[in-house]
Amino acid sequence: VRSSAVLEADLTWTGHHFERGVRLAIGENGRIHDVGPLDREPTERLRHQALLPGFVNAHSHSFQRALRGHGERFPRGAGSFWSWREAMYGVAGRLSQKELFEIYVTAYREMLRKGITTVGEFHYFHHHAENDFAFDDVVLSAAREAGIRLVLLQTFYETGGIGKPLAGAQMRFATSDLSVWWKQLEHLRNAADPATQSVGVVAHSIRAVPLPKIIELHQEAVLRGLPFHMHVEEQRQEIEECVEAYGAPPMRLLNDTLHVDQKFTAVHCTHSDPLDLERFCASGGNVCITPLTEGNLGDGIGPTKVLRSPETFIALGTDSNSRISMIEEMRWLEYAHRLGSESRGIFVEREGEGSVAARILAVATEGGARSLAVEAGALTPGAWADLMAIDLESEELAGCDLETLEEALVFGCGDEVISRTMVGGRWLT
Ligand SMILES: [Zn+2]
Repeated sequence: VRSSAVLEADLTWTGHHFERGVRLAIGENGRIHDVGPLDREPTERLRHQALLPGFVNAHSHSFQRALRGHGERFPRGAGSFWSWREAMYGVAGRLSQKELFEIYVTAYREMLRKGITTVGEFHYFHHHAENDFAFDDVVLSAAREAGIRLVLLQTFYETGGIGKPLAGAQMRFATSDLSVWWKQLEHLRNAADPATQSVGVVAHSIRAVPLPKIIELHQEAVLRGLPFHMHVEEQRQEIEECVEAYGAPPMRLLNDTLHVDQKFTAVHCTHSDPLDLERFCASGGNVCITPLTEGNLGDGIGPTKVLRSPETFIALGTDSNSRISMIEEMRWLEYAHRLGSESRGIFVEREGEGSVAARILAVATEGGARSLAVEAGALTPGAWADLMAIDLESEELAGCDLETLEEALVFGCGDEVISRTMVGGRWLT
């Protein structure tokens, strides 16, 4: 593969720290061809900038971007997750294809400006008219329009609570026949742009998919080598209903009935029993946390001891997109657990020591890439050339040096420091 460009910024993130004198050769195929002190002159010199891998947003319901600012006033007795969900259904019930396309493009462009180069779209908003799956192709075309890398996490959604039929706006999410569903997945796989788009398999949650179908979906996903995602234990109510119906909480049920591996991502795990979660993590599963959404919805904080372990694979997601900022998600991952445990240095690189910033940067990049099974999230040969540049001359970084830059970025900066974003070798912002 010939390289079409050689980039050199003042500083480059090489996985554990920023280094000087690193050049990045990018192939014509949109992938990183070579990294190091290459003996080729840069074709593009990024002065006063630092290069990092782009953020990987492992969990997004991007249509909920339309709800930003909504659901933040609280009539007496209406301040729960479930009342927010009613507001979301209000929006979901009325959108057209054209409106939806605009919402997705807006959300994806905002993500790109904030350094997010890959989005895992946990997509259950399928139908315009009954069972037409018209909204699925809207996601593919909107991502292509914006230029973001997309993993379309196609979601199975059958019930409105364990054993309960769907109602109202939920009919736009409805799937029931597995063979129809797999046929649609094949259609999407063929319609996807192979350079920037792939698909994954999702069972929405224990409240929306009967257990035998979760098992079937997961087995087939494993056979096809696709990533598998599921909401697990975000709300106490769903755990109680699950115990009543199946005799065990969701995570224990999954551990007992599925072969969890590194392609499995459990989203939230807020109220997971630490032992269940430990067992899940030991199998190689990923935990996706969405600190801003969980904070906004008042979900709670997952078990610190298990999550902080350097052996736990964590990814981050912008989820409801009430705010889109991976820098803020990173910081709140750490801060929520600092507040909960009244101590500092929670997500350190090694057992009990090391840099929080380096670990959390890995979570927001490599962790997401592992969860979505995309070759991105690190500046290594063969990976997609998905990058962001930060402006070393920005006000928020004044006074920082090479030694403190990663900490200053994670704890002291907003998205204004992100100057440019590249996906597949092409600058987009
Ligand atoms: Zn979600």
